[in-house]
Amino acid sequence: MERLNLLDVDLDGLVAFCGGLGEKRFRAVQLFRWIHQKGELEFDRMTDLARSLREKLVEVAEVRPLTVISEHVSADGTVKWLFDVGQGNAIETVFIPEDDRGTLCVSSQAGCAVGCRFCSTGHQGFSRNLSTGEIVAQLWHAEHHLRVRLGLKDGERAIDNVVMMGMGEPLQNYAALVPALRTMLDDHGYGLSRRRVTVSTSGMVGMIDKLRDDCPVALAVSLHAPDDALRDQLVPLNRKDGIAALMQACVRYLERAPRDFITFEYCMLDGVNDSPEQARQLVDLVQGRGMADAPRVSCKLNVIPFNPFPASGLKRSPREQVTAFAKVLQEAGIVTTIRKTRGDDIDAACGQLAGEVQDRTQVQVRMMRSPVPSPRSPRAVP
Ligand code: SAH
Ligand code: SF4
Repeated sequence: MERLNLLDVDLDGLVAFCGGLGEKRFRAVQLFRWIHQKGELEFDRMTDLARSLREKLVEVAEVRPLTVISEHVSADGTVKWLFDVGQGNAIETVFIPEDDRGTLCVSSQAGCAVGCRFCSTGHQGFSRNLSTGEIVAQLWHAEHHLRVRLGLKDGERAIDNVVMMGMGEPLQNYAALVPALRTMLDDHGYGLSRRRVTVSTSGMVGMIDKLRDDCPVALAVSLHAPDDALRDQLVPLNRKDGIAALMQACVRYLERAPRDFITFEYCMLDGVNDSPEQARQLVDLVQGRGMADAPRVSCKLNVIPFNPFPASGLKRSPREQVTAFAKVLQEAGIVTTIRKTRGDDIDAACGQLAGEVQDRTQVQVRMMRSPVPSPRSPRAVP
């Protein structure tokens, strides 16, 4: 019989599993706390569980962490792990220390099928969804290793902020994502605040509604363009629903979100989406004047300088262009931050996460065939 990986279930799932073994709920809670709060893998060492239960667990279950291929530490303290997920696939997880908190950037898929032009994960294509256990194992590994490395005391935690901004489109792996989020949020698990767990999506409208109903956490939407013609090219799934429907979904999400704003991410691509005129269009859009049927969305803007990689054929906007763009937004009263690039000396910055992906979707071939969009200086991917 295949043993159940206990990282694959949230607390309700573990309660059901333990119920099947004739154990009460509080036993499942104890077990859950050993795994996630103490980082214990060996049932033998879970000393307050009855010996008979521990012996049973060894036969039917395991706690299966990910195998680390490499760990890199950046000059600014950013840590990047490369994990083996089998069959030639590897995923990346990044820890970003800040003065007042530690953020973990977590992957949801090996590769990504959305195929955004400016994203190195997108260029690699898609291999497979990660399991709940593989998503949770990234946090499990980072939290428990960092506690030792940073010399934290009992009860102190290394990570208090999780962003689903690593490799993959989390809402295309919804079934595995939700139990993973629940484990992150559970007081017996990692006890993270809903406001400090962020799902970042390229904008899957129906799934945004589902997340709102099932497990509302903070939401970031990767917008990258103020109009459909450009967004269709940069973020191919925009062709399905379009920006107006996306804005409507954002408004519905806010009804149940733990924060009263959506974070829009906007990756600055030189000569593509970074003109002051496009900034004004973006202001009109989010303020509900830009597009028929696109309502005003309470939001913050996160402007991300593009992190180049060779195959993209795109360039980072010059710094003055980024500041000028942000200024237009700020002057219109929109809270705007220019994201600091962290960990780029170890290729850990946004969009540089490439891992190792056995592409099953031929996305690379498709991308090479379509031209890079550029309203001001048309050119083609070499
Ligand atoms: N698939 C999700 C989450 C992963 S990408 C999404 O698209 O939102 C996380 C963020 O990194 C997104 O905002 C994405 O647009 C941004 N990003 C991707 N490639 C980038 C690059 N080369 N430079 C800067 N940001 C990038
Ligand atoms: Fe996928 Fe997000 Fe990269 Fe787009 S930006 S290809 S959705 S990981």
